[in-house]
Amino acid sequence: MIGNYRSFDFKDSKQDLIYLSKTQELSMATTGFVSLVGSGPGDPELLTLKALRLIEQADVVVFDRLVSAEILDLIPHGVSQISVGKTPGKHCVPQDQINEIIVSLALSGRRLVRLKGGDPYIFGRGGEEALVLRQHDIPFEVVPGVTAASGCSSYSGIPLTHRGLCHGVRFVTGHLQNNEDLKVDWDKLADPDCTLVFYMGLANLQTICRELISAGLPASTPAAAVHGGTTSNQRKVISSLAELADAVSSAGLQSPVTTIIGDVVTLSDELDWFQSEFQPNESANAYDSLSLARA
Ligand code: SAH
Repeated sequence: MIGNYRSFDFKDSKQDLIYLSKTQELSMATTGFVSLVGSGPGDPELLTLKALRLIEQADVVVFDRLVSAEILDLIPHGVSQISVGKTPGKHCVPQDQINEIIVSLALSGRRLVRLKGGDPYIFGRGGEEALVLRQHDIPFEVVPGVTAASGCSSYSGIPLTHRGLCHGVRFVTGHLQNNEDLKVDWDKLADPDCTLVFYMGLANLQTICRELISAGLPASTPAAAVHGGTTSNQRKVISSLAELADAVSSAGLQSPVTTIIGDVVTLSDELDWFQSEFQPNESANAYDSLSLARA
């Protein structure tokens, strides 16, 4: 383990590494170490203690677009920061290049935190990056983070499971690969007893809702779209499955949006503890004709 580790500026890091290993302050092999760290959905207080410690001990932090500004503020002065953020539709740094950046920094002996939004292993390409590190014999660890589904659920009053309302939950990507059709088995997803959470589904919301209804999910199924979950920018739109896409578009919700579909959405108004604090009128969005009749 690395103890008493001091952060240093990226430009001088090689020099410092030589110094540190000579003075045996650091028991580091020539190869560095990579921590794939989940930063949660935005609220900095949702960071784990481990994530915070690693950020404070890093030589360099390579971060994604969805890592919140408040969390980036926690990176100590003097620690190098590299943004590899992707905005929807615009891939700033292609994944291959991100892999190259991580590998070369690690091979140069740096202690690197690869900071990702949410959880690294849930639609975060953490597995791909870990495999690349393994292929290069670079030691790594993975630190879980609060995933968007959990953050949006808790902060918008929508338990993902609730006795009597559903018997499970599924996390699904709504991302369309290379303009192909969504490769989803809609019949399997259209289960009224299972909560569905769609990540990256904003651009395809109309298709998602339409396909689920065609596959047999009632058009009246309650549905929520949550933007900026856990942050002071959080907004939620509650509707029926049939009307969600239009409602989201009228409300002008932008990415990032997580969509939750299922009877648990009926609890959103009653269990809201967060948004009503700073947006008291937003609850006018509530889909109030729903009942818990299925309980
Ligand atoms: N690894 C991340 C997911 C990355 S995929 C995680 O575990 O959360 C990016 C998608 O995550 C976005 O398109 C959106 O669907 C969701 N997302 C991430 N942060 C969010 C937030 N604060 N509010 C709403 N959705 C969010």
